[in-house]
Amino acid sequence: PNQDADYISHIALDIGGTLIKLVYFSPDPPSDHPTRESPTANIRAAAVASRIAEGIPATHQTVGSTISRGGRLHFVKFESSRVEDAIQFIEAKGLHRCKGSSGHMRVKATGGGAHKYSEIFKEKLGVLLEKEDEMMCLVRGCNFFLKAITHEAFTFENGTTSFVPTNEEGDLYPYLLVNIGSGVSMVKVTGENQFERVSGSSLGGGTFSGLCHLLTQRKDFDEMLELSMQGDNSKVDMLVGDIYGGRDYSNIGLSANTIASSFGKVISQDAPLSDYDPADISMALCRMVSYNIGQLAYLNAIRYNIKRIFFGGFFIRGHPYTMETISYAIRFWSKGEMAAMFLRHEGFLGAMGAFLKVHP
Ligand code: ADP
Repeated sequence: PNQDADYISHIALDIGGTLIKLVYFSPDPPSDHPTRESPTANIRAAAVASRIAEGIPATHQTVGSTISRGGRLHFVKFESSRVEDAIQFIEAKGLHRCKGSSGHMRVKATGGGAHKYSEIFKEKLGVLLEKEDEMMCLVRGCNFFLKAITHEAFTFENGTTSFVPTNEEGDLYPYLLVNIGSGVSMVKVTGENQFERVSGSSLGGGTFSGLCHLLTQRKDFDEMLELSMQGDNSKVDMLVGDIYGGRDYSNIGLSANTIASSFGKVISQDAPLSDYDPADISMALCRMVSYNIGQLAYLNAIRYNIKRIFFGGFFIRGHPYTMETISYAIRFWSKGEMAAMFLRHEGFLGAMGAFLKVHP
């Protein structure tokens, strides 16, 4: 087969309920790598090379890329409600054109939108979406990042990021993968392609965004997160200290600032709704959703006797409060035994898994 055609077809999509994730590989010009290694080797090299961006979650930006010997691996996201943006991007970059081949180009795609939007992709770009199972892609992508990239996983506690080595053979499984997208999936992973979706929750990233929009009139996710940074959740949350007159409930290990009831203070305050600061509401929502997911994750880890929990999905966005709250929940409920781990390519697990399906 034509090598160029292979290179250009290095694109995969994960079309989720809220976001479209696109992964594509662009090779260096042929003169830069005269040996023309196999595309798979290039992809792996590119992924391995992404360790250069140590310390900063890779997916903070809309467009991220990783440089390697053979080329770059690019990670891009769009809103699912604006599927035409993704189509325009693919068209402008010429990612849908498969040099040296005639007819339709086939693209691996996962997520519900791979079904929902398949006609649009065919009509607008002449691209056939080859549907791949969502959970399978999620696990494949996660395993790939954990093994290929030294600094993929990290803990975040008390404002400190610590990288966790995961690329040592044998140590990885079993683990619980908690993917926080619009909704939440909890997957027990026991091997390269061995997994079981053991639990889930409808209280996920979409819940945070939806409620935040209703309560603060903000629509932009980044603005919601930024707002939460200026907030004080104790203005709306009922804390242990509120109930115990400012004191800890130390017998059961609850400090005065532990949330006893999310938004529980509001009803007794009898204040006009206009008194509530959107920043406080945004922060309380972020804490409520994150803490609940952390607690469910812990319970499932216990249920299946799993010690390691990785959190992915675009809800996290490397946001300090989100990670801090999930970490707190895992530490608290495990009595210090477990730590939540986050992933630098958090939202791109499924897309990467679909991408790898092309060249296993
Ligand atoms: P899905 O596959 O369900 O779309 P994702 O992993 O892409 O799931 O995460 C979607 C969630 O990520 C949203 O519900 C929202 O909480 C959060 N999010 C992060 N960044 C954005 C953004 N730029 N626009 C909208 N939602 C975002």
